[in-house]
Amino acid sequence: MPESLQTCPACSSKHLDEIYRLDAIPVQSCILLDSAAEARDFPRRPLVLKFCDDCGFVFNSVFDLSQVDYASTTEESQHFSGTFNRFAKQLAAEVASLYDLKGKRTLEIGCGKGEFLQELVQQTGTLGLGVDPGFIPERLPGADGQDIHFQREYFDPATIAETPDFVACRHTLEHIPAVGQFMADIATAIRGRKDVGIFFETPDVRRVLDEGAFWDIYYEHCSYFTLGSHARLFRQAGMDVTKLYLAYDDQYIIQYAEPSTGRPPLPEEDDLDAVRALAKAFPERVAESRAYWIDFVRTRHGEGKRVAIWGGGSKGVSFLTSNDLRTEVAQVIDINPFKQGRYLPGTGHLVSGPGSLKEAPPDTVIVMNPIYMKEIGADLAAMGLNPELVAV
Ligand SMILES: [Zn+2]
Repeated sequence: MPESLQTCPACSSKHLDEIYRLDAIPVQSCILLDSAAEARDFPRRPLVLKFCDDCGFVFNSVFDLSQVDYASTTEESQHFSGTFNRFAKQLAAEVASLYDLKGKRTLEIGCGKGEFLQELVQQTGTLGLGVDPGFIPERLPGADGQDIHFQREYFDPATIAETPDFVACRHTLEHIPAVGQFMADIATAIRGRKDVGIFFETPDVRRVLDEGAFWDIYYEHCSYFTLGSHARLFRQAGMDVTKLYLAYDDQYIIQYAEPSTGRPPLPEEDDLDAVRALAKAFPERVAESRAYWIDFVRTRHGEGKRVAIWGGGSKGVSFLTSNDLRTEVAQVIDINPFKQGRYLPGTGHLVSGPGSLKEAPPDTVIVMNPIYMKEIGADLAAMGLNPELVAV
């Protein structure tokens, strides 16, 4: 195990408390393997979450970035869900309403497969540059001929040739261990300009702490934020936070920032005392939550019932591997055709399409993200299935 970090990567404080520990979890939970054996043998490492009492940042203090290879075949795109697509379109429309980007340069850091940047280009007329080591050009139809370019690499300000007018970064900060340095790199990329808009979307950890939502904790996510700790990171880097709220069923932090002109903090940033209390209660809370779900699955399995999990992404992998649930879960379902027929790291479950439920009807379906309950309920009903349907 790498030596545990004794200093907060966000604010350099040494007032840290351990709040969660897992001995061995798959080092990538979005990867899919070609055989069950390969999936079960996938490398595992420990996770030790620490809470910073001074800025509220939560991080994996034994995270080893060299274990995670984002250039390999990761499958993080949620763009197969109608709900997620609508959300991305709404966000692009919000950006368009706040900033006039026509003919200006947008840099998206961690653009994934590029769908959001394409949406921004279409809605705003911006010139798009996406940076991501996992970008796969052939997966983005219609990019040809648009003012959109991609650099297949990790973000490095030295390779950003033109100063951006707008920086977007969605679902990336949680993968960055040295978050303080990352902010300094963004400051370098905007080269001292003040008239640059910055848009971040990052998972919110407050509800994870509050609900003991262990399925939202996995290896690639080394950095966890609340509204307040997210904003404090930006303020420390010389930026003002201009808009801050929770979206997507309160799962994601949406934050806009600009290089500082001395604006006062927003009321939403003032959460440190409340988050300290949640962090203190978390060890007990998460133990209760894990015990509840282990019992839920094992009881049904013991009664001869078929339990299926809907969601073959990181949440599903964490749900299974954090509790070592194997044969107790009969099926893992995902609508993403790129995941189907392949195996989840850790437990080695095969991922199948929803159609497989018709052949082997489940008694219980556990939905890994409550926001998809309606969509999944409708899919099941359309197949004539009516299992017990619950969300984590
Ligand atoms: Zn800190």
